[in-house]
Amino acid sequence: MLHDSFGRIHDYLRISLTDHCNFRCSYCMPVEEMEWMPQSKLMSAQEIVNLAQVFVGLGVKKIRLTGGEPLARKEFPEILEQLSALPVELTLTTNGVLIHKHLEALKKAGVRSINVSLDTLQPEKFFKLTRRDQFSQVWDNVQLLLQAGFRVKLNAVALHGMIEEEVGDFVQLTEKLPIHVRFIEFMPFSGNHWQSKKVVTAAELLDLVRPRFEVIKLEDQQHDTAKKYQVPGFVGTFAFITTMSEHFCGSCNRLRLTADGKIKNCLFGKEELDLLGALRKGEEVESIIRLSLSRKHAALGGQFGADYTQANPEAIENRSMISIGG
Ligand code: SAM
Ligand code: SF4
Repeated sequence: MLHDSFGRIHDYLRISLTDHCNFRCSYCMPVEEMEWMPQSKLMSAQEIVNLAQVFVGLGVKKIRLTGGEPLARKEFPEILEQLSALPVELTLTTNGVLIHKHLEALKKAGVRSINVSLDTLQPEKFFKLTRRDQFSQVWDNVQLLLQAGFRVKLNAVALHGMIEEEVGDFVQLTEKLPIHVRFIEFMPFSGNHWQSKKVVTAAELLDLVRPRFEVIKLEDQQHDTAKKYQVPGFVGTFAFITTMSEHFCGSCNRLRLTADGKIKNCLFGKEELDLLGALRKGEEVESIIRLSLSRKHAALGGQFGADYTQANPEAIENRSMISIGG
């Protein structure tokens, strides 16, 4: 099992398949300085599987594929197929635009739950946010997933000036659709021009929901990052990922593997250790994984405190979200 020095057991690995993306979300991808990783630095499909096997041998029970856009990785079908042979719950976070091309493969691989990122229900705003005119394709694909029986979570980043007018419409979706909407507080990463005033907190969002809907709090599970709510009688739920206003680091069970094979023990951690380099030299990687965990900070990568309004984005050393793997 993988313990850190605070006794937290880590059994959930997020693997970034690529730092490339077919969208251009400004909160994720720095427009100014984005340099794609060269192919030779990316983990090959086989290297991804080899490293995943090591993690599974050390007690990892759940693997989420992410990126960049995981479905934009050319070898996605073969990576999915090989990982599906491992004794883990396999899942995916995607912008959804290529889902229709991979639906059968996802079913065959036993994937049951998929997170689709969708920050707006308005096609023009979607274009503004992603620089791609693909709202209809993403929305059609959400319907496809629901029809095929997948559990669908919709991730919406709560950006000040954008989300406020739509929060009620997202909640309304959950009346007839068995969708789980999650509003994510805007987080600081390299190059994303984060400012505390751009954060809309869960409490502020809930204040916007309450005049329109009766709301009940649902029970959250131990490692849940989202605080769940429901409108009585609605089939779906909605939730808030309160990384900024109320972090949940105390029950963190997550590790990350970047597309270039570095282990990150925290989304906000600046320390990375090179698993891919070791693998390519034929060295064992378990001790590196354990070393990384032993260095994990108590909260927020040790980079800022619980009061996010005091966080200085210039002082936070990290990659951009797109190159970490969210
Ligand atoms: N391309 C895929 C997608 O969009 O779902 C997977 C990668 S994306 C980096 C993973 C998640 O991170 C998405 O739900 C995205 O909205 C979220 N995200 C990216 N930048 C963020 C930020 N600055 N604050 C909060 N969430 C962010
Ligand atoms: Fe691409 Fe996802 Fe980042 Fe948007 S949030 S740029 S879809 S990786």
